[in-house]
Amino acid sequence: MLHLGVMRSPQQLWVDEKAHRAGYADGAALAAAHGLKPYRLEQLYRGATKELVEDVGAISTLPLELRGALGAEGFTLDDVALVTVQHSSDGQTTKGLFRLHDGNEVEAVLMEHHGERNTVCISSQAGCAYACAFCATGQAGFTRNLTATEIFDQARYFAKQLARDGRKVTNIVFMGMGEPFANYDAVMAAVALLNDPKGFGLGHRHITISTVGLVDKIDLFAEAQTQVNLAISLHAASDATRSSMMPVNRKFALAELMDAVERYIAKTKRKVFFEYVMLAGINDSDGDARELARRMKGPLYHVNLIPYNSTPDAAIRGSDPARIWAFAKVLETAGAAVTVRTPMGRDIAAACGQLRAETQPKAHAGERAEIA
Ligand code: SAH
Repeated sequence: MLHLGVMRSPQQLWVDEKAHRAGYADGAALAAAHGLKPYRLEQLYRGATKELVEDVGAISTLPLELRGALGAEGFTLDDVALVTVQHSSDGQTTKGLFRLHDGNEVEAVLMEHHGERNTVCISSQAGCAYACAFCATGQAGFTRNLTATEIFDQARYFAKQLARDGRKVTNIVFMGMGEPFANYDAVMAAVALLNDPKGFGLGHRHITISTVGLVDKIDLFAEAQTQVNLAISLHAASDATRSSMMPVNRKFALAELMDAVERYIAKTKRKVFFEYVMLAGINDSDGDARELARRMKGPLYHVNLIPYNSTPDAAIRGSDPARIWAFAKVLETAGAAVTVRTPMGRDIAAACGQLRAETQPKAHAGERAEIA
């Protein structure tokens, strides 16, 4: 069924998921029940994804009676319901906590870069099974995969907010809770929804997927030949260090991961971003920088150094700014392309790796990905 999903148009996929949520087998069953012509489904879809209306009642192209009937049976444009919203003190970062139909919760973050870019960071899973030692989501364990519309609707929420003063979401990053490539089909379906020119209409080049490094999925993604950006959470240039903080490295070691990256670059000719969180005394020496530089093989390899954001459980310290800049200098001198990231939203725990729904039960912490 999931593979059939790839064949559906974004609109069909959206209508099927929304109809399903309202208790129908699929969009065809919904259409049959209400005697809807295909253009009615298109009006619904456009209202939700392009016009960004608040709810079914506000889709003015639909007859009032139909709006009332759909609303009454629980047909909703939003699979995520806002629970709370927090704003950083500088006003540039907004974090939303959203409840899913089964009570699970996920977070998503809007980052406004001085009015130039409005980037939304979205979650692909409730929790995460990969247990990276430095990540709050990973410390809490895995609950479930999100559906394509549960992912898309996080972006829709912020798009609606921005639209109120004539602004738009300009970029989407899959850097919220979860491992996007462990929920590959739903994430690619969400990408199709985000990208659809008849709907949300965000260009592939404005979307970035960040992965812990699932080699088989990197190959699949290369074959998909999209223009979507790929980021790899590297965080260490040696297997010993990487395995000590990222259990996934025991399944896909660095050599295997970097081979997959080379295959991806050969196939797509696209740049790959390597995320590298700076941890004091763990991965931040000049030697580590030189080892990292050796793995960066040319202009399509780009390192993003991320200052560590504190998490509730981890007994880990971030590198101080001087060490980060010195590390960047070593990389640069060795010819690697490097950017030092500016953290946003730390004061509301909205920065990279800090997302964790407060209500997420710790009981799930035992559930881990098969990595052995
Ligand atoms: N599962 C995906 C998305 C994770 S979040 C992945 O692993 O790429 C996006 C980025 O934030 C990843 O690079 C992740 O390793 C990083 N990150 C996690 N915890 C962090 C923390 N506490 N401080 C800074 N970056 C962190």
